[in-house]
Amino acid sequence: MSNVDEPTKCDVVVVGAGAAGLTAAIFAGEAARLSDSRTIVVLDGAKTIGAKILVSGGGRCNVTHEVVTPSDFFGNHHIIKNVLAAFRVEDTIKWFASLGVELKREETGKLFPVTDKARTVLNALIERCCESDVVIRPDHRVTEIDRLPAPEAGFAVHHTHGTLKARRVVLATGGRSVPKSGSDGFGYELARRLGHEVTATAPALVPLVLDDRMFHKTLSGLSHEVELTTNVKGRNVDRRTGSLLWTHFGISGPVVMDASRFWTLARERGDKAEVYASFLPDQTQEQARQWFAEQAAGHPRRSLVKTLTIRIPERLAEQLCLYVETDPQRAIAQVRREERDRLIAELTKFQMPVKSDRGWNYAEVTAGGIPLEEVNFRTMESKVVPGLYLIGEILDCDGRIGGFNFQWAWATGLLAGKAAIEF
Ligand SMILES: Cc1cc2nc3c(=O)[nH]c(=O)nc-3n(C[C@H](O)[C@H](O)[C@H](O)COP(=O)(O)OP(=O)(O)OC[C@H]3O[C@@H](n4cnc5c(N)ncnc54)[C@H](O)[C@@H]3O)c2cc1C
Repeated sequence: MSNVDEPTKCDVVVVGAGAAGLTAAIFAGEAARLSDSRTIVVLDGAKTIGAKILVSGGGRCNVTHEVVTPSDFFGNHHIIKNVLAAFRVEDTIKWFASLGVELKREETGKLFPVTDKARTVLNALIERCCESDVVIRPDHRVTEIDRLPAPEAGFAVHHTHGTLKARRVVLATGGRSVPKSGSDGFGYELARRLGHEVTATAPALVPLVLDDRMFHKTLSGLSHEVELTTNVKGRNVDRRTGSLLWTHFGISGPVVMDASRFWTLARERGDKAEVYASFLPDQTQEQARQWFAEQAAGHPRRSLVKTLTIRIPERLAEQLCLYVETDPQRAIAQVRREERDRLIAELTKFQMPVKSDRGWNYAEVTAGGIPLEEVNFRTMESKVVPGLYLIGEILDCDGRIGGFNFQWAWATGLLAGKAAIEF
């Protein structure tokens, strides 16, 4: 792109054309058209924008969830509650309808476009930007943002093709997840240089890698209900029940993804973290022991693996028996007390030998970021730098799996877009 076409001045610069940035640009653009003409420019470092929207929800884009509450997020709940109240799920549904994207609800409560294509969502956002006279500039990576002194005030946004001066800047550079999409964490550095704090960041909604000596490879592809408990420095910090998926590298599935942030953040801080699974989610160890005794009394000749298969998948039952060095085919009445005790202990409190998480390339979102306390939750304006707005994943707020992270992007984008254009 030649420098001749490069605008050098505009009213609002949005840095980052992801879900949050495009939303902010649309709301700013629409407000600008209603009042007097103001120019809004979106700069993005990626050559083609919207990579993350396109890969989201397995290529279908889980736009939001039928019920969104602060407890679906990690971060300052008071602030999250206020942000969510400004743009509710009903508003998201209506807004997308106004963009020509009809949403459908699936059994899980997740909402997807009826086309089942993430492309529908991205195209609609880009089209509305164009209709609102928002200029989108891909391949424009922002390298520095300077505050301009009075009387000019505002900002000088330096990018790979020059410098753009603006009254307001919306920072929507995302986090660190999937860096090849363009969100490589440099936005944190831009914010830090402007005076913001950035809390420790760690991959979240990420699968976990297990010690190679574990039996996970044998179970690859198997998924079932578990209760997962994360213990950090001797204290249980999270407990949740859901579907676990065994894979060739370790464990994945919604319950693992949702719990992963506790393990990754603890590791990031250098704290000891352990993950335990109960394969009998609704049972205490005592109840499991009781059940085992009943089975031994009622069906003494039934094999161990057959008995366990009443409660857990057969492949897992077999592997657990081998793990505690017991023959899966042994008749249950012949199982020695120590073996039975070991088995019950592993059934109800199995320590996952977690070696690492799968890393930023596989993380769906970032835990940590710019503290929510540093923004005004009514406008998303920075309390540190007036005229700067912070939205989306760059903030210290991450949601669980199910469309919550996009809801956060739409809501913060709306607030900042509307506020940034008012001056
Ligand atoms: C595989 C995957 C699946 C997902 N599925 C879902 C889902 O179905 N539902 C859901 O709710 N969430 C999902 N998420 C999470 C969701 O995609 C993110 O939370 C959301 O996209 C964050 O939006 P954002 O606009 O804040 O950041 P991003 O989407 O990361 O956008 C940031 C933009 O800023 C640009 N940028 C970064 N630095 C610079 C710079 N220095 N200069 C210029 N531009 C810059 C980047 O190129 C990028 O385009 C998924 C994530 C992944 C990785």
